[in-house]
Amino acid sequence: MTSAKPRPITIPTEPIGSIPRPFDLLQRLAEVDSDDPTVAPFYEDAVRDTIERFEAIGSPVVTDGEQKKYHNFLTYCVHGLPNMAPDGFKIPFSDGHTRRMLRLTRGPFRYKRYADSYLDIAMRYAHVPVKQAVISPSALSLMYPAESIPGYPREQFIEDLLREHETEIRRCLQKGAHKVQIDFTEARLAVKLDPSGQLLDSFIDLNNLALSRFSPEERRRIGVHTCPGGDLRANHSAEVDYADLLPRLFELKAGNFYVALACEQERRRVLEIIRKYLKPNQRIFVGVISPIHPRIETPEEVRDCVLEASEYIPIEQLGTTDDCGFAPFSDDSSTSRDTAFAKIQARLLGTELAQKLIGVHS
Ligand SMILES: [Zn+2]
Repeated sequence: MTSAKPRPITIPTEPIGSIPRPFDLLQRLAEVDSDDPTVAPFYEDAVRDTIERFEAIGSPVVTDGEQKKYHNFLTYCVHGLPNMAPDGFKIPFSDGHTRRMLRLTRGPFRYKRYADSYLDIAMRYAHVPVKQAVISPSALSLMYPAESIPGYPREQFIEDLLREHETEIRRCLQKGAHKVQIDFTEARLAVKLDPSGQLLDSFIDLNNLALSRFSPEERRRIGVHTCPGGDLRANHSAEVDYADLLPRLFELKAGNFYVALACEQERRRVLEIIRKYLKPNQRIFVGVISPIHPRIETPEEVRDCVLEASEYIPIEQLGTTDDCGFAPFSDDSSTSRDTAFAKIQARLLGTELAQKLIGVHS
């Protein structure tokens, strides 16, 4: 009697992006500006060490840990430009602390650096595929002030913004990024700030204008990350119901979605929503690790999360990730590098355990 061989199942697993910076880099950055040449060797060491540690625990896809994204995942591309003021849009977190965007003071809007410059360095050290995160046009759109900038209307700003964002993604794709992940953490925040959903709609429309510039093949390597924010052990929008976000989110013309899920109170309810609104050409990487909680998840806990998700998401559209980066703001040292990598290792082992079980039962 012959029996069909179980179909080999691979559940892809990827980090979001950031890893806490080494202490000596943080210490150096407290003394001099990030562009100071004396910081360069510290950055280089941090990237090398990050990639080595990812590879040592068997991560099939790595990032540079955003070691060079100074000050953060939001404004790395414009940090240091003369037409930026520090008093931009305020992001309020659940524990009362705030972070601020930069504010554009005059046109034209240009990036100072594109994220493929990080990829260049990471790919020198990596032996496995490297993923690159970039900031969304919708986040950067918050830099344009409420009152118009004389001689530089908002429409012109949006045109410049979309072109710069498209250029950044193209450069990353051309250099061989495994995936380009658009950080869209302000999606959930938008629903909190404007429960009518209009702000979210405008963000989705803007980001889709950018995504429309890419071919279906390119979009298979483009992803979108959603989360309730994660900074200094706090969130900015965890109270927002995913039911008010996910149906619109999946209208984005991207092939991959990295959805924070580990921290959700009602995971099965969220998974129901994902099942209902997920489109056939989209892969959902569910968050199975909580970066802002200090306890290290066990591989068995991760396994159970993956099995649970597999009841709702077709296995060929399922992946795993962490709920967020481990230090989206570069000065956030609330999680140690050891803890971050221990959590990532639990994700890798737990995903593998689930994969074996699903493979056996398929
Ligand atoms: Zn995040």
